[in-house]
Amino acid sequence: MINSLYIHIPFCIRKCIYCDFLSVPYDEALALRYAAAAAHELDLRREAIDEITTVYIGGGTPTTMPTLSLIGLLRKIRDSFTLAADAEITIEVNPGTIDKEKACALSDAGVNRFSIGVQSFLDRELQFLGRIHSFEDAIKSISAVRNAGAKNLSLDLIYGIPGQTLDDWSHSLATAREFFPEHISTYELTPEVCTPLYELIREKRVEKPDEETIIGMYYHAIDGLTGAGYGHYEISNFARPGFACRHNLNYWDRGEYIGIGAGAHSFIAGRRTRNTNDIGKYLEALRKGELSTEEDIGISRVEEIREVILLGLRKTEGLNVGELREVYGIDIAGTAAALIKAGLLSSDKDCLCLTRRGLVISNTVITELFAALEKGNALSR
Ligand code: SF4
Repeated sequence: MINSLYIHIPFCIRKCIYCDFLSVPYDEALALRYAAAAAHELDLRREAIDEITTVYIGGGTPTTMPTLSLIGLLRKIRDSFTLAADAEITIEVNPGTIDKEKACALSDAGVNRFSIGVQSFLDRELQFLGRIHSFEDAIKSISAVRNAGAKNLSLDLIYGIPGQTLDDWSHSLATAREFFPEHISTYELTPEVCTPLYELIREKRVEKPDEETIIGMYYHAIDGLTGAGYGHYEISNFARPGFACRHNLNYWDRGEYIGIGAGAHSFIAGRRTRNTNDIGKYLEALRKGELSTEEDIGISRVEEIREVILLGLRKTEGLNVGELREVYGIDIAGTAAALIKAGLLSSDKDCLCLTRRGLVISNTVITELFAALEKGNALSR
């Protein structure tokens, strides 16, 4: 059953130095054509969706788009689909691209969750990252959204920035908490290949804080936020009770979804598909009344098991051990015995979870768990 809809808006004012997302410089004429194409894609996908319970408008920077285009897309969703009365409708916002008027218009059009990419409350870090905004802009955006009546606000923060100390990170976290956001996401800065950040690090012109400091930053976020009443519900995500992101939980629960827009992914009936990353090709396909699917992969049983484990362990509630036994015939706790003994995973009769130590090296733990499953032939049955 498909209840989740993602819409990708691939425009930003300027590229940040660490960004490998699909985004191009904002161009109004292109943005208007893109909005019309996305609306057309919504039409083409109309039949596939049952009742929408979550919508996520992400990017890029969706709020670079003209307000009327965003309102038009939201109206199109309402007109074309059955929208649940309590649907979660999120828009990603970057400081410097929203004011109170825009926030009010989006709220009136149904947006009820604003996710603001603050990243840091220190100007020097924002400048290093190539963000277009300053500390002042971040404060103004948060105020604009709150003054528009937003009751569900999420702030994104980044740690592990070259030159960042634990005190700097603590300052950004503490400042974020002063605004009482319902949700906070904390991401470690990753130098993705082909980004300017990657080159700067490769050429040793800058370096990330050492591993011990980065682990300290992560634990500082966990301890500070859980101590302040936030639930740590996913490796990088924290929420006040009742405010976990339902749209993202659907991904981690391996639920189906439809993605609209260039580069957007969908997961339908056991197949993972992706629209073309090429905005020109995307516009052309929709002009001809066609979808722009460029990748269409059927998920095998082995890949399905891997996905269930990979996504399930991201959630702090962990993997449902009984489901893995009943649906896939896998004794996951038995397979994970060595990792449990090493204190990286914990198990009780219902679930298998990453421990505090396991959380910081989750990729390594999951890789070792897959290796143990392969060794036990659990993935070949
Ligand atoms: S605002 Fe986000 S999507 Fe846009 S360039 Fe920066 S990191 Fe990339």
